[in-house]
Amino acid sequence: MLPLDPQADPGRRAWVACPRCNDHQGCATCAERRTCATHWRYLLSNVGSLLHLQCPTCTHVWDHETHFGATRTPWERITSGLRRP
Ligand SMILES: [Zn+2]
Ligand SMILES: [Zn+2]
Repeated sequence: MLPLDPQADPGRRAWVACPRCNDHQGCATCAERRTCATHWRYLLSNVGSLLHLQCPTCTHVWDHETHFGATRTPWERITSGLRRP
């Protein structure tokens, strides 16, 4: 297992399925595409709509292209980026 990236910050999350462990499978909250409190990824960085992510479950690191503009509504559903509750 890789160590967590030093940029990993629980305050910057993205709700994207992990391609390695698929830990969201069987989760009702994830199935409704809601912001699940258990299954989220560290948002290490992003360039436009390309997200650099790390999975807290299996520590897999990958890039995810959202095809959304950074200011569009769908983007805000995928990430909680700089917004804290
Ligand atoms: Zn994973
Ligand atoms: Zn979930």
